[in-house]
This record gives sequence, structure tokens and C-alpha cells, in this order.
Amino acid sequence: MLKRIAETLGFKKKRKSSGPHIVPPGSHPIEPTDISRAASEVVIGLEEAGYKAYVVGGCVRDLLLGLKPKDFDVATDATPEQVKTIFRRAQIIGRRFRIVHVRFGREVIEVTTFRAHHTNNPGKDKNLSRQSKEGMLLRDNVFGSIDEDASRRDFSINAMYYHPTDNTIYDYADGLADLEQKTLRIIGDAATRYREDPVRMLRAARFAAKLNFDLDDNTLAPIAEYASLLSDISSARLFDESLKLFMSGAAFATYEQLRQLALFAELFPQTNRLIDDDFYQKLISQAMRNTDTRINNRQRVTPAFIYAALLWPALVEQRKAYTAKGDSPLYALQQAGSDVIQQQIKRTAIPRRFTTMMKEIWDLQGRLNKRNGQNAARLFSHPRFRAAYDFLLLREQAGEQTHGLGEWWTLYQEVDDDERETMVAALPKQKSGNKRRRRPRRKPKVDHAS
Ligand code: ATP
Ligand code: MG
Repeated sequence: MLKRIAETLGFKKKRKSSGPHIVPPGSHPIEPTDISRAASEVVIGLEEAGYKAYVVGGCVRDLLLGLKPKDFDVATDATPEQVKTIFRRAQIIGRRFRIVHVRFGREVIEVTTFRAHHTNNPGKDKNLSRQSKEGMLLRDNVFGSIDEDASRRDFSINAMYYHPTDNTIYDYADGLADLEQKTLRIIGDAATRYREDPVRMLRAARFAAKLNFDLDDNTLAPIAEYASLLSDISSARLFDESLKLFMSGAAFATYEQLRQLALFAELFPQTNRLIDDDFYQKLISQAMRNTDTRINNRQRVTPAFIYAALLWPALVEQRKAYTAKGDSPLYALQQAGSDVIQQQIKRTAIPRRFTTMMKEIWDLQGRLNKRNGQNAARLFSHPRFRAAYDFLLLREQAGEQTHGLGEWWTLYQEVDDDERETMVAALPKQKSGNKRRRRPRRKPKVDHAS
């Protein structure tokens, strides 16, 4: 596919003296029908109202690469207020970067007004443009022309505009050439662009991993110095970004990129300190691979599971401090889990619904070996049983010794009620049958690395 594009683009693109490369119909593989109905309707609606509009960004890039776009973004010269008056189900969102969400059934089209450089803010309105002393854009709402908009986008491959009616691509930053060469190149001066928005470094890791592209030298060079600027980004935005990093079907490659670029430490400092340990390394890598397999098989993935895995190393270490004080294994597990979450939400604001689920998954790791009597049946009917069972298998895949616990639960799920009872009856009797005693004397059998 790429080769075909390269061949097609090699000779047919025309360039006006300063404007974009213009790639006419027939010289590129995109068809108007590749664009979602909703996105086409947004473009047409805006044009009928007298504005310019294009689909832009990831969808054009992905279609050129033969990938299915995740969503469709539209860029226009209409202001957010003007966009809102045109579409019935439109909502202005964001403050730092105001955009409009236009809803068509279940699909949401992000409509962005062309952005300009911040020198174009004569009135110095603080809601339009505001910059921190480090150069970070706290407001990025200065509007401008399509040329300016293109130069404000992050990477050359994300600065291609496609018009679904004239079926033409407008390539402003030589994105097509970079697509052919599988190169991720930031637009403009890399250091300035990372200072303006440090999240662009995470986006670099994500696109390089997802597309299997190399970072060009200038795009790569400043990351080592600027990675720490990510601590200035709100934890809410970093949480959203973390989902894009790990839930796009290339979590493992992204994780490796993040580690290589020393960005992982900025997002998961607690885990990063432990990651040289072989078991933890395997656990995280395996969790990422499993996530990719599930996403690529269209199975459900919850951020709670991914986060539970990403923070497990820190939990296990923290748990040791509690058990050393004499706390029961289960209590130690719960307290360590709370501590680790409390630290993590300073970096990525994990919503409560997910932290609750993470705690349940972790809690069940301490309970899955207690199968006597009615316990097995009770555990099996727990709403988080399946996730907890998957997590147990993950620990085993990473090399933890659980004395066949995963296999036992696999079999338990496969057999009928009678056989389940037989399985439970065949278990060795638990000594800690005395319900009043809260602290077992023995160390837990499935405790890694303690
Ligand atoms: P995908 O949707 O597949 O994750 P995308 O490239 O479409 O990738 P979005 O976050 O949807 O990414 O953003 C749409 C477009 O907006 C990008 O392609 C890029 O042109 C621009 N963009 C997004 N975030 C930034 C940023 N932080 N700085 C500059 N431009 C950005
Ligand atoms: Mg997009």
C-alpha cells in the first residue's frame, strides 16, 4: 500500500510557490466515501454557511497508510461560536484549546478553528493567548488562516488537509514525503514546540509506536532535556493522554518508546523506579501485549486493568513495608494499593470509577487462593472475578509461582457445579478456619519477591 502511494505521489504532486503540495483526485488513494458521513456533513454544512472546511489530521494520515481512522477531525475558518450556530447538536468544549464537538448519532466530530501564531493577538486577550514563563501555551485560541493552522499542528504527517468534495489533499508540511519515509517530524523548532506543549513529546512516542515510524533527529534531540516539563501538565490531561497511549492497539510498542525516550518515568515515577527488576519488566510488557491482543480482537479493555498492572510493582514493594510492621497480608495489600493510587493520581488523574475497580482487582489477588467452603463460589460470582482471574494469569505469565492457582481457576470455570464441589473438597484444609483471627500466621503463598 505504502509503495503504491509513494509511486503515485512521486510524480503527480504539484506545489505552488509557497502554499501546500496539492494532490488531486486519482493521485492519492483516498475516496470521498472513506470519510465518515458525519464528517462529510460537517464539512458541507460549514461550506453552505460560507466557511472553509476540511478533514484533517490523523484521519487523512491513517487513510493514506491504509489504516482505519480512529475518528475524524474537521478544521475550519468559522469560530467556535459560528460553528455552534450551524449544527443543532454542537457543544463548545475546552478552555486552553476551545473546539466544538458536533454529534451525529454515536459519532462525535471535533471541529477546530484554524489557529494562528500568538503574535496575532493585538488586544492581548488572556482567553485567546496566554503563555507560561517556560513558554507553555496556557491558552491557544488565536485564530488565523489555514496556512498558519498547518504550521501550528504538531507533526508533518498530521498537517494534511483533505477536501471530501474536491477529493484533493493539501499537504502543507511535506507530510507525504515523511509518510513515505516513515519519519515522524515535528513542525518548526522542536524545542519551542515541546516547550509550548510538552504533551507533544508523548504524542511523538505514540505515533512512532503506532505507525512504526522513526523520529527524525531534530524531533528526537530535545526530548531528553524537556521530558520533565510534563510535570507542568494537568493530571486530568495526562490521564486522557495515557489512555491514548495504552488503548490504541500498540501499547507494547508505545511502552517501549516511552521507556526509550525517558518519558515513562514522567507518567509512572513509582513504577519506573522498579522496572529494572526482571519480573516487573515482564509483567508490564506482558500486560501491554495482552492489551494489544484484546484490542485487536475487539475485546473489551478497561483502563482499570491496565492501571492495575502498571502500578502492581509499586504496590508489591509498598506492601512489604506493611507486612514488615506485622499487618495481615490482605490489609497490607489494601493499604499499599491506596498509597500507590494516591501517589499516582498526582500525575494522572485516574477517575474514581477506575480506582475502585483497580482496588477490587488487587484485593482479589489476595483472596483467590482462599477457595475452601463457599469461598470459591463466592469469588466466582464477584463482579470483578474475570478481571482478577486475568490478572492472576498475568502474574503467572510474568513468572510468579502460584502453585497452579491459575490452572485451578481455569478448570473451575470449565466444569459443572458437581465437579466444582469436588474440586473444592479436594483442596487441603485451610488451617486459618478460625474466622475471628484476622492475621494469618503464614506468609501468603503467592507473594512475589518478598
Ligand atoms: P489519533 O486521533 O489517531 O490519535 P490524531 O493525529 O488525529 O491521531 P488528535 O488528537 O485527534 O490526533 O488531533 C487531531 C489533529 O490535531 C492532529 O493530527 C494534529 O494535527 C493536531 N493536534 C492535536 N494535538 C496537538 C498538539 N498538542 N499540538 C499541535 N497539534 C495538535
Ligand atoms: Mg484524531
